[in-house]
Amino acid sequence: MDVLIIGAGYAGLTLGALLARKGYQVLILEKRERIGGRAGGERDEPGFYWEYGQHSHRLAEEGPAYQVFQFLGEKIEFLAGEYPPMVYYQGGLYPRPGSILSIIQSKMFSGWEKFSVAKLMIGLIRANPNDWYGKSVWEFSQEKISSPERIKNFLDLLCFTIMVPKAEFCSAGELIDFMKKALRAKRKVGTPKGGSEQTLKKLEQIIKTNGEIHTNEEVKAISVKNGQVLGVETANNFYKSKAVVFTAPLDQLLSLLPLDLLPENLINYAKNLEHTASLMLYLISDEPIAKMGLIMGAGVPLWAHFPTVEDRSLAPKGKHFAVFCWMLERGKSQDSAHLQEAEKNLRSAIAQMFPGYQAKVLSEKKVFVPLQNGALLKPGQARPFRPSPEAVKIKGLFLAGDTTNGQGVSGDIAFSSALKAYQAVLSYLSD
Ligand SMILES: Cc1cc2nc3c(=O)[nH]c(=O)nc-3n(C[C@H](O)[C@H](O)[C@H](O)COP(=O)(O)OP(=O)(O)OC[C@H]3O[C@@H](n4cnc5c(N)ncnc54)[C@H](O)[C@@H]3O)c2cc1C
Repeated sequence: MDVLIIGAGYAGLTLGALLARKGYQVLILEKRERIGGRAGGERDEPGFYWEYGQHSHRLAEEGPAYQVFQFLGEKIEFLAGEYPPMVYYQGGLYPRPGSILSIIQSKMFSGWEKFSVAKLMIGLIRANPNDWYGKSVWEFSQEKISSPERIKNFLDLLCFTIMVPKAEFCSAGELIDFMKKALRAKRKVGTPKGGSEQTLKKLEQIIKTNGEIHTNEEVKAISVKNGQVLGVETANNFYKSKAVVFTAPLDQLLSLLPLDLLPENLINYAKNLEHTASLMLYLISDEPIAKMGLIMGAGVPLWAHFPTVEDRSLAPKGKHFAVFCWMLERGKSQDSAHLQEAEKNLRSAIAQMFPGYQAKVLSEKKVFVPLQNGALLKPGQARPFRPSPEAVKIKGLFLAGDTTNGQGVSGDIAFSSALKAYQAVLSYLSD
């Protein structure tokens, strides 16, 4: 075996496909019964495709996922994105401003606020992200504009575009990097036709040309001798491999190896890793609850989308569903009182946005998501502080996934880290 990959999420599958295309023999071991990890979904008997995770790709044709597919000689087919993104702000819905001009035209801001917001945006676009990865957007705003507290909701909204709900703990470097790319991009976001099923199937097909994926097979230990990886152990097998790549969130690596084999800074990073967690409500109806693009909350950690309006393949004929998500406060995902409060807030926000929506709802699904984004993009977990593929310092053992050093946000990190790991593995195997 050339390369054994632990985990069949986007990072593991992308890496597997890249290596298989290059002619290497790969085996992916996945502990769950299905592939996709946090991007996975399933189609039920009536014909709904439930995506329990990643649904869209930032920067569409210019983003890391699309670029990886191009590298593989494939394409992601995106929906046209007919409906504009919206903002939920102080109880109302507004078109989301995506340029300086649209900020000036937006009814969300007063005259003074427009001036501050525009000044801040110009400051962000002009800044060098490398100077700001270790500082927060709040610190950036204090330096660049007067009275940033007067546009605090807008600052939180900007941070929420990279899935950090508050400016106080959002890495300014990450936001600057994203904003620069987003303002230049032709499309800010692309949603795959047919959901993640499309992308996952394409990756799976490529892997199967020169490799295998075993689901329901959990890696229990990574075997290392004299600083060199030998392979991995599962409940019933030992797999010998020239290289092993771990792609799940890094806190989960610590149980697979004796800790004295790992560098201290990596252990500290993994032990203190901060994920995001959410509460999701899927509302099923005969007609759409709304026809609009992604809604993001300004000052409230809410997002929502209506996938079946544009993509009829995700629901049986005549049925629709809407997805509403409330991101939980840091460190409170295990607190049942906080979960109850989050649900109450989410339901009241839905009622405010869409009065009378309940009359349309036929049934609902409530899902607690303990791990949404592997790394919250706070200053200490911004890109330069996340481990590179070779950070374990064991020959033949590499890292990828959305808690490691890849570009972008959430799923983008999984794709771009897989590309980095691919280069590291290639160079190792060719030595
Ligand atoms: C509700 C939700 C919405 C999201 N929306 C978006 C979005 O719109 N855009 C975006 O970019 N991102 C989004 N994300 C984030 C995105 O889904 C993740 O960043 C991405 O899927 C992470 O991929 P990964 O391969 O790094 O990790 P994972 O998907 O976690 O994959 C790791 C895999 O490893 C397996 N594994 C772990 N330990 C072992 C072991 N010992 N042996 C074998 N297998 C193991 C796991 O079961 C898992 O399948 C969303 C996430 C959620 C939950």
